[in-house]
Amino acid sequence: HIPVICIDGPTASGKGTLAALAAHRLGYHYLDSGALYRLSAFAAAQAGISLDDGDGVAGIARTLPVRFKGEKVFLDGKDVSDAIRTEAAGMAASKVSAHPQVRTALLELQHGFRCLPGLVADGRDMGTVVFPGAQLKIYLTASAEHRAERRYKQLISKGNSATLASIQQDLEARDARDMSRKAAPLKPADDAKLLDNSYLSIENSVDQVIEWWQGSRPF
Ligand code: C5P
Repeated sequence: HIPVICIDGPTASGKGTLAALAAHRLGYHYLDSGALYRLSAFAAAQAGISLDDGDGVAGIARTLPVRFKGEKVFLDGKDVSDAIRTEAAGMAASKVSAHPQVRTALLELQHGFRCLPGLVADGRDMGTVVFPGAQLKIYLTASAEHRAERRYKQLISKGNSATLASIQQDLEARDARDMSRKAAPLKPADDAKLLDNSYLSIENSVDQVIEWWQGSRPF
């Protein structure tokens, strides 16, 4: 049995950082499932396919030529790491992720990341849909204010201009869409552990995950 840890939660809750660090500490693989939705939207736009065309985007998603290398993401050999990390790309990802066909098309690709010695996967439905049998599921949250502030600092440090209010508005809109869609809406799995990191350092959050992980293992 290959061990899987799922970390789900809303936009800018720090899932990616937490999952990548936990994977590093455990020597496990890491899956950033959000990147797959971002890439699907990006590749569809490049191919001239409308984001409203569920079957069209699913066709692209099914054979997505993606490769992860460290923090970089390559699409068909081209480094698209920055292009898919913009707020607009996140909103486009949220749009295409509401199509059930797109979600189904990405299932197999996501399952392929489950390799020995183990996997830490982050997203919205890792624990509820993609890896329902995972040994540890975590639902990570933080207040909208904290999440907006983190995203703001991130954007500013990269030289982008933005206002805190508009960022908070955008992420609340994205949360609302992710939670209200019919296909795999964002919600904690029944057996998920809730972790609110509004007042936790990233190190403390990683420690908590590792502690839960050790406690959830039979040896
Ligand atoms: O996590 P990230 O912000 O990169 O995800 C971008 C969008 O992709 C989310 O807003 C969500 O709509 C969608 N997504 C999803 N299921 C996942 C991961 C991301 O629907 N497992």
